[in-house]
Amino acid sequence: MYEKLALYIDGEFLDGDGRVTQDVTNPATLEVLGQLPHASGADIDRALAAAQRAFQTWRHSSPMLRSEILRKVAAYSRRDAEAIARNLTLDQGKPLAESTSEIITCADHADWHAEECRRIYGRIVPSRHPAIRQMVLREPVGVCAAFTPWNFPYNQAIRKVCAAIGAGCTIILKGPEDAPSAVMAIARRFHEAGLPPGVLNIVWGVPSEVSDHLIRSPIVRKISFTGSVPVGKQLAALAGAHMKRISMELGGHSPVLVFNDADIERAAHQLARFKVRNAGQVCISPTRFYVQDDVYDRFLKTFVAELEDIKVGDGLAPDTEMGPLAHERRLSAMARFVEDARTRGARVLLGGERLDRIGNFYAPTVVSDIPDDSLLMTEEPFGPIAPISRFTDPDDAFQRANSLPFGLAAYVYTNTLQTAHRAANELEAGMVNINHFGSALPETPFGGVKDSGVGSEGGSETFDGYLVTKFVTQR
Ligand code: NAD
Repeated sequence: MYEKLALYIDGEFLDGDGRVTQDVTNPATLEVLGQLPHASGADIDRALAAAQRAFQTWRHSSPMLRSEILRKVAAYSRRDAEAIARNLTLDQGKPLAESTSEIITCADHADWHAEECRRIYGRIVPSRHPAIRQMVLREPVGVCAAFTPWNFPYNQAIRKVCAAIGAGCTIILKGPEDAPSAVMAIARRFHEAGLPPGVLNIVWGVPSEVSDHLIRSPIVRKISFTGSVPVGKQLAALAGAHMKRISMELGGHSPVLVFNDADIERAAHQLARFKVRNAGQVCISPTRFYVQDDVYDRFLKTFVAELEDIKVGDGLAPDTEMGPLAHERRLSAMARFVEDARTRGARVLLGGERLDRIGNFYAPTVVSDIPDDSLLMTEEPFGPIAPISRFTDPDDAFQRANSLPFGLAAYVYTNTLQTAHRAANELEAGMVNINHFGSALPETPFGGVKDSGVGSEGGSETFDGYLVTKFVTQR
């Protein structure tokens, strides 16, 4: 049975009831799973009023209470992981094992926020006069509006919700209409945990209409968005016009540098597995491969062999390693990338086409000898395509890696200490992974530089974007 879809406003779950609805479909079968109600303008205004009212109490709530609720949400997420994960696979498409791992990791995120919210400290600044006490206080910013995408629906939403609620803010979240079950599941677990009405509100609708309404409202003090760079810039511009704080976790185009001295078999194996995770619809997916001359052919051969063996299918089938793309839009995007690569003389070594069956299935694809000015090497593919290019001189590799406006993640394979140090220092990215993948843990910061975003989620930085600093001086 699929999740019952609803709005969640002021502690109440509200279903269709005369509202506009949209179909939610399974990307593996194209079957309709349910009807998602859109929030009317009046619903959004009600959510705003509820969040504003709840903030007056929640901002003064004990961190112990916030921590207790977040811990309960972590426990309920673990308890119900199987059912939540099944629904996530149904509406998003990823293999069940990946969905389950997403829910379990999110329970860890909730626990991390439960621990850290008890340590939101201020400080005392020594004063110039003994009769004066100078205090720096950190206070919740206020009502937050958050917008989360469809690729990791539980993960992207729970990180924002836990950070806002743990900091003492209230929040209105618009989740992904394409894959809404995970956000519903989060609302139901916070409700069960006893979160007071109005602290968390969930709305759905036409994304641009909902975001416009919320960002323009004087009630909202902070905007948090995860999604594409163009939409992020649009929302940040509107937030700027109304002088609102922002956190932006946007797209990337993560370079992979494989040096002659790397363990090539290990690199090819790890990168191939990571490439097909969530069918490549991962903002930190490895997306531009630069491989040094001496190992180029060996890397290609091993990498292609690994991807040839990937079992593509319905995420609910036990042997599936890669599911469908989340929606039809991604299939046409893949076709455009591959057509451009072919026109520019690149070689399609594997895949390069959608699979001939019902559902949004695309073949794992490897494109070699691709020029740097191709679409694949300049725009984020957000799909299971790996474009591979060669380099001779390390200086050239670092320059090409840093040449795009993105700066989210970067990957480096080398067994030379100096090269590893150089990568850590020189790569323009918010997260640099050397000889393994280690980003996105609750205790480590996740975020980008350049066009890839503003601010970090997770780590001890996680509440920074949800707090304001107040200075109090007293005599
Ligand atoms: P898109 O740009 O239309 O939408 C991306 C996300 O933003 C979706 O969740 C969508 O609902 C939301 N959105 C779009 N317009 C909005 C608006 N005006 N206000 C609020 N939310 C809005 O693209 P898409 O086809 O859904 O996804 C493809 C692209 O999105 C990819 O190329 C990738 O760069 C990006 N993306 C990034 C992430 C990430 O984790 N950073 C996640 C999903 C998608």
